[in-house]
Amino acid sequence: MVTELIEGVWWFELRGVNAYLVEDGDSLTLVDAGTPLSRRAFVRKLGGLGHSFFDIDRVLITHYDVDHVGALNRVNAPVYAGATDAPLVAGDRLPSPSTRKGLSQRLATPFCPAASGPVRSIGDGDTVGSFTAYHTPGHTPGHVSYVSESLSVAFVGDLVRESDGQLEPSPWLLSHDTEQVRASIERLAEELPAVDVLAMGHGVPFKQNGHERLRELADRL
Ligand SMILES: [Zn+2]
Repeated sequence: MVTELIEGVWWFELRGVNAYLVEDGDSLTLVDAGTPLSRRAFVRKLGGLGHSFFDIDRVLITHYDVDHVGALNRVNAPVYAGATDAPLVAGDRLPSPSTRKGLSQRLATPFCPAASGPVRSIGDGDTVGSFTAYHTPGHTPGHVSYVSESLSVAFVGDLVRESDGQLEPSPWLLSHDTEQVRASIERLAEELPAVDVLAMGHGVPFKQNGHERLRELADRL
């Protein structure tokens, strides 16, 4: 399923994982890259919009996990990722198995292709096109959210997930540090401009009042 969430922003539902395509000015931006198993479906869905992986100008990766980097070996464009996650995305370093999260990432590395394009580390407050990066650690140490005020969209990766219309924080089992998750949600809710679309890695994105939904979650925590 491919759904236009707001003008220029498409949601790709790929076997329970979300990726997004954004027309940002003259550039075509991919936000996250699905699972290795969904590559074919990804190609088909892009084709339905008249695009292919060759058209992608850049990829914004919210975090290093097997379900978000699956097609990076097919995209020959610059890839942006948070400082701690970037060497993992590039295949320059292996996840450390000394933490629960690191161990799960380490076990998945045989299925995580290294990016074909150059990987660039992106820091808190850095901008790419109309996007501003917010370092939102917790699910992974280098987790980043990308916010475009002009497009009225926030891509929040696995900082939160949607389930039955409710927003929830990244669960303990899948998180590097749940206390960091909570702090990142509170900080982002505080600083997020009044964007409509809140687009997460799992679940159904919110098309309207996304910033208010995040604020409600922060108030509940
Ligand atoms: Zn995920």
